[in-house]
Amino acid sequence: MGGYAGTMAYIDLTSGVVTKKETPPALKEAFLGGRGFTSHTLLSQVGRQVAPLDPDAAVVIAVGPLAGTLSPSSGRFTVAARSPLTGILGDANSGGHFGAELKYAGYDTLCITGRSDHPCYLCIEDDDIRVCDASALWGGAVRRTEAAIREEMADDDAHILSIGPAGERQVRYAALVNDAHRAAARCGIGAVFGAKRLKAIAVRGTGGVDIARYDEFIEALDTVYDAIYHDPVYPVLSERGTPFLMDAAQAEGGLATRNNRTGICDRFDEISEEAYRTGFKVRNFACFSCPIHCSNISVVRGAAGTQWGEGPEYESLVCLGTKCGITSLPAVITATNRCNELGIDTISCGDSIAFAMELWERGIITPSDTGGMDLSWGDADTLLALIEQIAAREGYGAVLADGVAAMARRYGPGAERYALHVKGMGVPAFDGRAAKGFALGWAVSTRGADHLRALPNFELLGFSSDEARRRFGSPYANDPYEERGKAELVVWHENFSAVVDAAEMCKYETFSTYAVTPEMLASLLNAVVGSSRTAASLLEVGERIVTTEKLFNIRHAGPVRDALPYRMLHDPLPEGPARGNVVDLEPMLDAYYALRGWDDRGVPGASALRRLGLPDAEE
Ligand code: SF4
Repeated sequence: MGGYAGTMAYIDLTSGVVTKKETPPALKEAFLGGRGFTSHTLLSQVGRQVAPLDPDAAVVIAVGPLAGTLSPSSGRFTVAARSPLTGILGDANSGGHFGAELKYAGYDTLCITGRSDHPCYLCIEDDDIRVCDASALWGGAVRRTEAAIREEMADDDAHILSIGPAGERQVRYAALVNDAHRAAARCGIGAVFGAKRLKAIAVRGTGGVDIARYDEFIEALDTVYDAIYHDPVYPVLSERGTPFLMDAAQAEGGLATRNNRTGICDRFDEISEEAYRTGFKVRNFACFSCPIHCSNISVVRGAAGTQWGEGPEYESLVCLGTKCGITSLPAVITATNRCNELGIDTISCGDSIAFAMELWERGIITPSDTGGMDLSWGDADTLLALIEQIAAREGYGAVLADGVAAMARRYGPGAERYALHVKGMGVPAFDGRAAKGFALGWAVSTRGADHLRALPNFELLGFSSDEARRRFGSPYANDPYEERGKAELVVWHENFSAVVDAAEMCKYETFSTYAVTPEMLASLLNAVVGSSRTAASLLEVGERIVTTEKLFNIRHAGPVRDALPYRMLHDPLPEGPARGNVVDLEPMLDAYYALRGWDDRGVPGASALRRLGLPDAEE
């Protein structure tokens, strides 16, 4: 069988013992790889009694069968644990080169448990896995950590996944960063590393990846690359990167501004894609084996010197920018660079600060809460100071470091209605009232509010009603302001998204360009692995992964009907083309549960579980 490295490594940081097992064929068949492996491993390993930051908690990292091949964007990986931010399933996916390097070293999965009695890092060089001392690295920022470990390994080609000070101090939305700027950011897995005193994982592999049917693989690659290069979105994404979504969000009236008080930014020209491209962007940049190269290298020159960095992406421009009422690009670029250096999720960080700014404006918090800081909208110096405080858990940063849901609990019912989170995770950039498929996707997402779980960009890309009917059985699925047809849209996107995460391909190849179809992905996988999957059987793997994650969440949070923040349901957007919009969630949710075969609290039914070969939810 090609594609897989064949080994799962289990590392106990308490004892330092490393054990290795063969990756079971049944696991490959049922869960494919990547996110499929991480979700299945968490469900089998993390019982109800294991708190997210306990030594017994497991962190799982997995790559997919395409990792390290010539397939587009095949350097990706998934890292997962029970989230310290939400208490349910937490995972994050990142590009860069780390995933490919892990495959070359010979591993499909790493499962890390225990807690070291001193700061440590894992050094993986092919077969050899060592727990090394990281006392001298503790407290350091990401780039310094990467440089020091490469020097210690005497290998400039090692790829390193590390935490910054935020992870060490268990900031609930601490990120993991690899290749200096690529973050596995969501759900606070960096805090789980910090609780284990695990500063980093360094990996260097010299092996290769077997391809089961080579000629067929080259043919499938030709088809896939041809589809990507000829897709109408390709030139936009590859030249302008994700900041182009700023213009789309403003045009739809969904550019989250001042904690989603509005979807229109009145100083948009200062923070538009054009302002970024002409003022700060230097060049494009790509993750491993990626033809899209959507990433941007930017430079800011100022009194304090010249700063280089990767990004900001669209999500960071909004969450650290317009959500906080800030349109200064030098400030947002600096804030993004600091979040990457300190190991912080830019989305949850911006959400926490924006929420605090609204509480300040409404008088719910005062200088006595903030240590004398003025949290008025739009103050870039305040944003930068708060990021440093969050990473250090100092001053008001200690409150912000626990995230929006914990802040809402702290300030009580008067604050709750302005708290924008789902299941404890802060909401992403595009306002759900201007994109109803995205809103449903946030509500049902198995890791809390998230744009990437479903990523139903179909409703934003100008597809026709006929195309909507053909693909999703409803002529309304293409209309972002419509609730009708969105259950079908989200179920299909969630299932395919889970497969793409399991194969570990970037979603920009599948959901931003819609170039790579399930049929094409099946052809690629079959050639690499030597299998005979169909598009339909792949989508069933996706359904199995989503349902497994739902079972994990039921175990840890009970059966709870999905929901959205108060503002999405009750506060109409005040201006722009989506003026007056709120989300009518319940009909979408009923239709979604019915399509999935789940009951009205989102509990998977016995027949769905049997069909997918999963354990009974009551078990
Ligand atoms: S499309 Fe962008 S984020 Fe995705 S793999 Fe390529 S460069 Fe990385």
